[in-house]
Amino acid sequence: MSSLIVSFLWLLLFLGGGVYLAYQRIDLRTSTVAAGVATLAYTFYTFAGNGFWLWMLLLWVAMAVLAIPNMVDLRREKITRPLLAIYRRMLPSMSDTEREALEAGNVWWDGELFSGMPDWDRLMSFPAPALSEEEQAFMDGPCETLCEMLDDWDICHNRVDMPKEVWDFIIEQRFFAMIIPKQYGGLEFSAYANAMVITKLASRSPTASSTVGVPNSLGPAELLLHYGSDEQKNRYLPGLAAGTEIPCFALTSPEAGSDAAALIDNGVVCKGRWKGKAIIGIRLNWNKRYITLAPVATVLGLAFKLNDPDHLIGDKDEYGITAALIPTDMPGVTVGRRHYPMSIAFQNGPTSGKDVFVPLDYIIGGQEMAGKGWKMLVELLSVGRAITLPSIASGGGQASSYASGAYARIRKQFNTSIANFEGVGDALTRIAGHTYIMNAAVSVTSGAIDQGEKPAVPSAILKYHCTELSRKVANDTMDIHGGKAIMMGPKNYIGRSYMATPIAITVEGANILTRSLIIFGQGAIRCHPFVLRELRAAGDEDLEEGLIEFDDALFGHIGYGISNVARSFFLALTHGKFSRVPLNTPTRRYYQNINRYSAAFALASDFAMLTLGGELKKRELLSARLGDVLSSMYLASTVLKHFENQGRRATDLPLVEWSIRTLMYQAQESLHAFLQNLPNRWAAAVLRIFIFPRGRTYSAPSDQLAHKVVELMTRTGEARERLSRQAYTTLEPGNPIGLLQEALELFEAVAPLEKRLRQAFKEGLIDSEYLGDQIPEARRAGVISKSEASDLEIYHEKVRDLLAVDDFAPEELIRAEPKPVDAKKATKKTTKKTTKKTTKKAAPKKASSKKKSTRKKKAE
Ligand SMILES: Cc1cc2nc3c(=O)[nH]c(=O)nc-3n(C[C@H](O)[C@H](O)[C@H](O)COP(=O)(O)OP(=O)(O)OC[C@H]3O[C@@H](n4cnc5c(N)ncnc54)[C@H](O)[C@@H]3O)c2cc1C
Repeated sequence: MSSLIVSFLWLLLFLGGGVYLAYQRIDLRTSTVAAGVATLAYTFYTFAGNGFWLWMLLLWVAMAVLAIPNMVDLRREKITRPLLAIYRRMLPSMSDTEREALEAGNVWWDGELFSGMPDWDRLMSFPAPALSEEEQAFMDGPCETLCEMLDDWDICHNRVDMPKEVWDFIIEQRFFAMIIPKQYGGLEFSAYANAMVITKLASRSPTASSTVGVPNSLGPAELLLHYGSDEQKNRYLPGLAAGTEIPCFALTSPEAGSDAAALIDNGVVCKGRWKGKAIIGIRLNWNKRYITLAPVATVLGLAFKLNDPDHLIGDKDEYGITAALIPTDMPGVTVGRRHYPMSIAFQNGPTSGKDVFVPLDYIIGGQEMAGKGWKMLVELLSVGRAITLPSIASGGGQASSYASGAYARIRKQFNTSIANFEGVGDALTRIAGHTYIMNAAVSVTSGAIDQGEKPAVPSAILKYHCTELSRKVANDTMDIHGGKAIMMGPKNYIGRSYMATPIAITVEGANILTRSLIIFGQGAIRCHPFVLRELRAAGDEDLEEGLIEFDDALFGHIGYGISNVARSFFLALTHGKFSRVPLNTPTRRYYQNINRYSAAFALASDFAMLTLGGELKKRELLSARLGDVLSSMYLASTVLKHFENQGRRATDLPLVEWSIRTLMYQAQESLHAFLQNLPNRWAAAVLRIFIFPRGRTYSAPSDQLAHKVVELMTRTGEARERLSRQAYTTLEPGNPIGLLQEALELFEAVAPLEKRLRQAFKEGLIDSEYLGDQIPEARRAGVISKSEASDLEIYHEKVRDLLAVDDFAPEELIRAEPKPVDAKKATKKTTKKTTKKTTKKAAPKKASSKKKSTRKKKAE
């Protein structure tokens, strides 16, 4: 063998061995020994030649370099101590509110994805979420009845409120008490059951799902359960469970929207009289807006900033954000007026308070919780954000899938079902695929919450992506239904949900902010295996303790970085083909796709943090793109887990494949866009080699796959039913979705008859092209029997009803006594405006002539 080939083989052995050690994350000590053995072997091999002493020297240099990191004391002093000093100087400042947000919740599957080497067993070992008998009975009983009682047109258009009977039913059946324990009279449902109830209601009425969602999400009950004193729990929870107390939570004010911590509503600790006695209490002043349920609330969960200028309760002037429970019947409290959110009728409005004096024990958790309001909110949000809004989104998706699949079949244009057109099929596929993703995310994440997880970063992912997906679903559903979706009236089952989509986008962290700041911004620090440890160590007041911890985290981080380089490169070259999967099923390649992107994402995140440092916080778009990659992987993982949870049904495979391909394609494109925009172009070039050594080879779902998805959602069958499992699909006269399903079943039943009619038309046995006229003609010509004609008549009539839209007498559309318009006044106003405009326009001329003359003077 020529010496060149031998040297090449040795090189391969060294490189391959190095990559293997890094890929498998073999610990430093073992790796050092392995490297030493390989170098020794090489030295003995070359001993046969002449360069023995040279190789011995090289061996010892290599061993010395490899050994230093193993000499902990030495490396700590010589390497880590100076690095820690630099790190401390570079550390971006972090406000208390940011720190509290970071510490909220825990790290779960998001941490595995961040590790670059996800341990799938951790996800797969979670049990499939299921409803208890009691919860199932609630879904089939009260929830079903409530859905039947809801008439969204009547609620949103005629009354702009739910009828009293509906309110009473909601309260009697304890819909507001799903999260309240039984000992206080609540239903004590699991997070999964809570999510399923909201999903079902959302498939029927956005007003009902929002109304029920709020008391079961972030609000007085949740705050009391986690932080309330026993006395407060006993005082409020039974009333909240029985519905004698209606809660709301008031954080947002005109000044403080997304930056809620900047609120100016305040409480001043002072002396006052309470029930005839002199006490120390709080004088509150607030002005809040957008508060759901405020107009009908009996108790306000109020967030305000607490000050103690006279040091009556301690030596601090300012305590910060505090949460208290305020009965709305107290003097100085104003509730009752309403906003009108996108013409959806749930109760939402402003509230204000003027010099409302309350005792200190109105603070949730009592005086010792003064100033802990923000911490409470972000902690609760880390769970609640994963349930209510994502479930509303998923419910909307389920209703849209069910309705659109049937509608696209029964609606014909150009003599064929519109579902047969590829363009419509494209929209149908997106509706079904996005619904599958939302279902999976909600089910798997709420199931994890029931197992004790508090997934802060996944909850932000769900909030953002489910509500964005529901916006896409709403758009596609509108397009498929054409004019039918646009004409508002009792027959329109889509328009109202479409209008409601921006609400979910805006609340609980408006979406642009959630994507740009929260998902990666929080995730990068929270879920990264080393960054939070490094930050904590650098901030440790005990400098020596901090050094030890920092050293450990830093060298762990370096090893992790090296491993991610190797993993990212190897997995990209092989498309993850040899990476570990938890199951040998038809979905095994998708686990491998995620493995590959997990390593690439971990590497890209480290480069972003390393090259941008604190600046990354301001580079929102880079942060957003990395957040998109993390989100795509998280959602794709839930899709795989959901598929297993549902019993690995082969009929669902097209949905699984479409969802994963869509998500992972997005992950690829987001990484590409991130690399394109990373300011350090050298870093971007190096990263591209390790992340995309073969270019961007991952492809989006094919048209062929889309056809399969259209097939399963437009045909009656188990896959279609499973996709819309929680939706209210009962066949009853007030439920268009149930009626659409009935029409779809009839469509399939009469399809052979329709085929016969088409043939008869071709052969000239009947003249008409329109089904309504064809039926009697075909009957007369003996093409169909009497009973077949009757089946076709029934089908035709049902379809005609479903395709119909509403029309109104002009006076029916007038909802308030019209105000007379004074035409003369209007003309005067217009003239005034025009004059003003002209004067304004003339003004700059004067100014410019003034300028000119000044310039002239200066020149002179
Ligand atoms: C129907 C409805 C119900 C509500 N219910 C309640 C309730 O019950 N209780 C309550 O307290 N509040 C409630 N809210 C308030 C809601 O939480 C706020 O509307 C929300 O926080 C956004 O505030 P804003 O509307 O003032 O928008 P702004 O804060 O003015 O934001 C405007 C836009 O700027 C973006 N933005 C802001 N900062 C950043 C940033 N740093 N980076 C990137 N983008 C950014 C936002 O994402 C948004 O797109 C409700 C709102 C609505 C519409």
